[in-house]
Amino acid sequence: MSQNTPTPRYDANWTTDALDLDNLDYGMQTLAVRAGQHRSDEGEHSEALYMTSSFVYADAADAAAHFAGEVKGNIYARFTNPSVRTFERRLAALEGGERCVATSSGMAAILTLCMAYLKAGDHLLAAKQLFGSSMSLFNNYLVKFGVTVTYVDVTNHAAWQAAIRDNTKLLYVESPSNPLAQIADIAFLSQLAHAHGALLAVDNCFATPALQQPLKFGADIVVHSATKYIDGQGRALGGALIGNADLLQEAHLFVRTAGPSMSPFHAWLFTKGLETLKLRMLAHSDNAMQVAQFLSNHPKVLTVHHAGLPDHPAYKLCKKQQLAPAAIVGFEVVNGRTGAWQVIDNTHMLSITGNLGDAKTTITHPATTTHARLTPEARADAGVTEGLIRLSVGLEDAKDIIADLARGLDTL
Ligand SMILES: *Cc1c(COP(=O)(O)O)cnc(C)c1O
Repeated sequence: MSQNTPTPRYDANWTTDALDLDNLDYGMQTLAVRAGQHRSDEGEHSEALYMTSSFVYADAADAAAHFAGEVKGNIYARFTNPSVRTFERRLAALEGGERCVATSSGMAAILTLCMAYLKAGDHLLAAKQLFGSSMSLFNNYLVKFGVTVTYVDVTNHAAWQAAIRDNTKLLYVESPSNPLAQIADIAFLSQLAHAHGALLAVDNCFATPALQQPLKFGADIVVHSATKYIDGQGRALGGALIGNADLLQEAHLFVRTAGPSMSPFHAWLFTKGLETLKLRMLAHSDNAMQVAQFLSNHPKVLTVHHAGLPDHPAYKLCKKQQLAPAAIVGFEVVNGRTGAWQVIDNTHMLSITGNLGDAKTTITHPATTTHARLTPEARADAGVTEGLIRLSVGLEDAKDIIADLARGLDTL
């Protein structure tokens, strides 16, 4: 079948695309631009947006065969939708995974992970350095269903070894972590998990597959908030899980039953986001490196947390796992909360918002926003001090980002 031959509507091979048919070893940027596209019989060049919740059949027998699972095909958009499937196939290709299950948000992906792979009596072992809502989900909801949760420092290998139990079913980390850019040793955690019959899930939101592919280091499941860099422009909520096909079937069954499914419109935005993901991530990283260097030399800055700086404890590990150090920069200023707020309030251009992974640089005071709902002890464990500021370095000119930060810092 040539690339321009539309696939017949009722073809049982509905999951194939032109790249599969060639069966070649395509590079990441080719996959980012072309993987997963399924042309309709209109022959459209750009990926179509299928805003439809249901699907029609050739005849009654065909409908029955679809519902019986004898014929593969779309039934209802809570289960599958062609625009969502294109996004899933493209992201799976980029992560080097067999299958992706898209969800309505990053948190919906993490909920799906919990519902699909944990049950009452199981133990979840997670890093202390996690996105605030991930911790709240585990602490306030997961425990209601009889799952116990323990947190350990992401970089303390002995603590992971000591905390794993016979009933530990899932290890959960973010790498790099928010907001201190701590790096999880994925190969170590994968060996530990597998030696105890547990799974390792890695939230790859900050590095994205453009910079890091956790499955290659032994992770079983990759977690994404597509809301961040995959969209990259702050427009839509979405999430995903990626892993091998059999494992991900459990996640698919939960999503099709419970309904945290991705909107086709969002999938279409994210699919186009993936095309430029690597170009954007390299540019984000480059800007972040310049900003981190500027901050390290500023007299009012006490510490800079960025794994691209040679004195960061995870500099070497970051180099091993990531193509570039990514673009979240945490830094501590003098005078605690007063100092941090003063810096933030004296910038003119940077967006004061809790969001990250946007083309626009964002500046956040984690202790009073993203991490405000944690207990003081949990905040301290996560390294979130009163003087800490988090930047998600965007795609403006680095000199302008630096000049704006200088405006704030020079008032201290
Ligand atoms: C934002 C975020 C999430 C949650 O994603 P949503 O799309 O906001 O639900 C999970 N993990 C990390 C690291 C995040 O930054």
